[in-house]
Amino acid sequence: MSSVSGTTTPTIVIVEDEPDIADLLALYFTREEWSVSICDNADRALDVIRARQPDFVILDIGLPGEQDGLDVCRELRKTNNVPVLFLTARDDEVDRILGLELGADDYVTKPFSPREIVARVKAIMRRGAPTESATTRVEFGTVVVDLERREVRVNGDEIVLAAQEFALLDYLVQNTGIALSREQILSGAWGPDWVGDIRTVDVHIRQLRRKLGDDLPLATVRGTGYRLS
Ligand code: CA
Repeated sequence: MSSVSGTTTPTIVIVEDEPDIADLLALYFTREEWSVSICDNADRALDVIRARQPDFVILDIGLPGEQDGLDVCRELRKTNNVPVLFLTARDDEVDRILGLELGADDYVTKPFSPREIVARVKAIMRRGAPTESATTRVEFGTVVVDLERREVRVNGDEIVLAAQEFALLDYLVQNTGIALSREQILSGAWGPDWVGDIRTVDVHIRQLRRKLGDDLPLATVRGTGYRLS
């Protein structure tokens, strides 16, 4: 992945089969000095993403081809934790995003304003940027979290976390011992300007538990939210 800080131009892959939408998004991101690639087909999306190694992926769900955007994300997540924002056309797609726990970083329902998309992408990139922190390496049994290197290992094996999953873990680690409400977690880990479903927190918590196992001392606090102890 190329760096988004300093002088490197950030790159984005837009997977969208509707040319009007793809072109409009491309225009907005080009204006923001991103390098943009468009792919209009799910079956080619992974090849394009692997070739470009983008800093961000916008992924439409309804796509021509054997696969849809959810399939693409599932496949992508096996090897890659690039931030993904889904474009959805219907509410049932949102339920599938939340239910499938694909490690998506955000989603936007059509119709949307391109400005909103740009703002969301920037917010996610800010969250993903390395934070200055006194605590950089924490161990919970077999789970080792290195906040500076943005690396998580269980029993020595590196675990691939989506950018938002890492941001959540980072926030929990920074607030170890404190019972946090879902609202606090959303504000702290997703950012105060994030607007969306509060269930997102539970979905990402489940993902962390599944990926990091029982050694992560992450307790559900009844009536409140969650606490890392
Ligand atoms: Ca579509």
